[in-house]
Amino acid sequence: MNANLIEIFSSVQGEGRYVGCRQLFVRFEGCNLNCKYCDTENQAGTHPLCRVETFPGSRKFSDVINPLEPTEVAAYINRFLMELPHQAISLTGGEPLLHSPFLQELLPMVNARVMLETNGTLPDRLARIIDMVDIISMDIKLPQATGEEHWEEHRRFLEIARKKDAYVKLVVSGDIHMGDFQRALELVAEADPGILLILQPVTPLNGVKGALPEQMLELQQQALEVLGDVRIIPQTHRMMDQL
Ligand code: SF4
Repeated sequence: MNANLIEIFSSVQGEGRYVGCRQLFVRFEGCNLNCKYCDTENQAGTHPLCRVETFPGSRKFSDVINPLEPTEVAAYINRFLMELPHQAISLTGGEPLLHSPFLQELLPMVNARVMLETNGTLPDRLARIIDMVDIISMDIKLPQATGEEHWEEHRRFLEIARKKDAYVKLVVSGDIHMGDFQRALELVAEADPGILLILQPVTPLNGVKGALPEQMLELQQQALEVLGDVRIIPQTHRMMDQL
């Protein structure tokens, strides 16, 4: 089982609970959603080559031909880990769970903590690899971002994910629909009111309206009425000009 990857590189985690940690990013091609604010090339079959950093943090890359085998990717990851300690490897995308059969082969060969960055809509695929994952950064996607409802998938996903070190991330735009925001809060609170919720002000792309500072405070206040730990964290890697 091979997979198309976009890139493998070492950088700083810019979002969520582990912001600031040095991580090794493995970015998979393709996504099952099409969010308005997407900042990644999320179409399958558009990357004949994967770029691999030559040394962790060097920002120098060499190209390798897609698709890659799990043993090849494991060799790159383990070489990076030998060269520099990383807090975790981050499986990102796109949507890495689209490649769950690949991950089932890859992850037993990797000697590191594994963080999964996911849109939280593929619970059956998560169930197949949950034992090989340590940290889960799960998005809740509001219907206005994707044009679709994913409440039931999110509910089932969170039920599985919460057995691990999991937190939920919700991207907030300036025109957020409050009914959907409330529904997202209820979904998380019903699963576990102790789960960390990150409110991430959207990086305004593709005409998406940014959220105002006072609006973010109001949303955090509302979320704190039903959840114990609610933090506002933007995409910090963009501020630092990191990858
Ligand atoms: S889930 Fe992530 S990668 Fe997929 S379209 Fe949305 S923002 Fe882009």
